[in-house]
Amino acid sequence: MTDVADLAALELLPDPVVVVDADGRIVFCSRLAGRLLSRPPGEVVGAPAREVLILTDDAGTDWWTRLRPLEGPAHLRQRLPMVDLTLLTSGRGPRPVTLTAARNTDDDGKLLSLVVVLRRADAKERLDAARSDLVATVSHEIRSPLTSVKGFTKTLLVKWDRFTDDQKRHMLATINEDADRVTRLLGELLDVSRIDAGRLQLRRQMVDVPAVATRVAERLQLKEPDCEVKPDFAVEVPKLYADSDKVEQIYTNLIENAFKYGAGPIRLSAVVETERVVFTVSDQGGGVPERFLTQVFTKFFRRTGERRSGTGLGLYITKGIVEAHGGSIWATSPPGDGASFHFALPQGGLELAGIEITKRVGPTASLHEDSRP
Ligand code: ADP
Repeated sequence: MTDVADLAALELLPDPVVVVDADGRIVFCSRLAGRLLSRPPGEVVGAPAREVLILTDDAGTDWWTRLRPLEGPAHLRQRLPMVDLTLLTSGRGPRPVTLTAARNTDDDGKLLSLVVVLRRADAKERLDAARSDLVATVSHEIRSPLTSVKGFTKTLLVKWDRFTDDQKRHMLATINEDADRVTRLLGELLDVSRIDAGRLQLRRQMVDVPAVATRVAERLQLKEPDCEVKPDFAVEVPKLYADSDKVEQIYTNLIENAFKYGAGPIRLSAVVETERVVFTVSDQGGGVPERFLTQVFTKFFRRTGERRSGTGLGLYITKGIVEAHGGSIWATSPPGDGASFHFALPQGGLELAGIEITKRVGPTASLHEDSRP
């Protein structure tokens, strides 16, 4: 493997590769490996590998010391197990990598070279972190309502006769609300997994979005009579090819957020542009600091110290729904002027879905279309 032609071929591999000779010196460092190490490949050739590839495991143990990859009969250990390690680079500090290595021998079984393949694991690490966030958030969000459901139910079962009707009604109402919270959370998680898998199903038809928005506003206004919600659609908005239930979900999320994090009056409006309609939900609360304006749409984003309950999934789901419609969503928050959430949906009708109407179609149900490819 120390043949120059063989080594040059290693440049074709999609992962960073370093080849070390039996004495532990680097004989080849691919361009990608150089980039990973933040050093020109030419500079590390000839250097002792363990001084260039500084690799440690979670316990901080040096990989070269633990595995002794250059020692022992090579034919007995041709491949070294895949491991997740931290690579210390001079330019960019520690970087997570996944390492695999092969030991090459001559016909007598003598070690000729060690080929080390490194794969950047930053993305994997981010995914793992997101997964463990998910598990932690979900466990917490499910545990707290379940604790109250369990506690109140047990109390009622054991001491039923000791409570007044009012007290019993209050406890049952709490149980009911907490059970709703768990159901809502599970619904959100299902939405998230559908969005992440690109499998959000839309049942589209021509929708009067301001009418849907007004309906949602009226429903939510009953829950928060003190915070005014004002549908203010001054312009004629054309019907849009959208999923009416999902549009309802967008407005529910945005208005509930305005109740929760903002303050009234909450205004619902629209601007019709050439190719799209921009809908806005604005409130007069404390607003969103500029540095969080895009972050609020990421999964699990919550402001640190946020005391109001929530999972940080609401805006992520809202964004997923808008984007599944071919639209976009963003927030603005001029200082002192509350927060505004804008979402744009494309104008147009069935032609957006590639459906041509050549003959008269019957009930709208027949126009339903699944957004899955
Ligand atoms: P959750 O589902 O926990 O309510 P969201 O994804 O809906 O989370 O919102 C994420 C974060 O965005 C909230 O924790 C809050 O800090 C911020 N936010 C959302 N809406 C508003 C608003 N109208 N005013 C100020 N901050 C908001």
